[in-house]
Amino acid sequence: MTDLFDLTGKVALITGGTQGIGLAIGLLLGKAGAIVCVNGRNNEKLQICKDVFKAHDLDIFTLKFDVTDESDVDKGVSMIEKSAGPVDILVNNAGIIKRIPIIDMAIADFKNIIDVDLVAPLVVSKRVVRKMIEKRSGKIINMCSMMSVYGRNTVSAYASAKGGLKLLTQNMTCEWAKYNIQINGIGPGYIATSLTAPLREKGHPFNDLVMSRTPAGRWGEPEDVANAALFLASKASDFINGHILYVDGGILANFGYVKGENEV
Ligand code: NAP
Repeated sequence: MTDLFDLTGKVALITGGTQGIGLAIGLLLGKAGAIVCVNGRNNEKLQICKDVFKAHDLDIFTLKFDVTDESDVDKGVSMIEKSAGPVDILVNNAGIIKRIPIIDMAIADFKNIIDVDLVAPLVVSKRVVRKMIEKRSGKIINMCSMMSVYGRNTVSAYASAKGGLKLLTQNMTCEWAKYNIQINGIGPGYIATSLTAPLREKGHPFNDLVMSRTPAGRWGEPEDVANAALFLASKASDFINGHILYVDGGILANFGYVKGENEV
């Protein structure tokens, strides 16, 4: 039973894994035995991440590279291959959001979000997938969102990217599943990380909205998402292909219900 989630010896690259959801995923995959590699753009955050792993008695490779830069990605993955081996598990987690109404959004800002949240998962996946094809084995997990299927004010670029990432996940599946590579997505609901910190302040109307609309009655924790990542990285998901696993406390199941407002 426990073997099902054993990742001993598997090389896992988690992009943007220095904090939040990526850090929780790295720690859990590390505890399951994976050789964890994490990248980010900020040296200080990479060092803090190293210290966190050390405090958990876990080893980690940290690499500074920008996931939007093809040649940087190539160099970063080559270093991983030299020191740890080919990537067996890729978690395309790095992501950014900018909350700007469409009418005010500079095209450069829109493109920047599409670049990080949609194009970069393609860039990194393309770089690692050839070795997965050779090995006839691999797991790719794309960090989608509930915005992969819904829109909302001010997040047009993010939702466009995450909606695209859902379909990219399905299209990668169409082309690569035959090589025993499982490509799936995770769609987190509202998770307490720095990405959502501005929305979680007490009294912020959005905080009230999340609390009242989420059937589970709370924000998600990064560890809630990491548990889903472990499943999708493990043998337990070997016949799950092109699926988006929503980890959202039920918010997507809950059309229009607001606690205390429209109870019948
Ligand atoms: P976070 O705390 O802001 O962390 C984002 C990570 O991405 C950081 O480690 C950051 O490192 C890295 N990153 C950003 N741009 C990068 C780039 N160009 N190259 C390399 N690394 C880059 O975010 P989070 O909340 O944990 O979110 C993680 C993922 O889950 C994202 O894809 C996000 O869209 C998705 N998600 C989050 C939520 C939520 O409620 N939090 C909901 C749905 C989906 P540096 O600072 O060093 O660049």
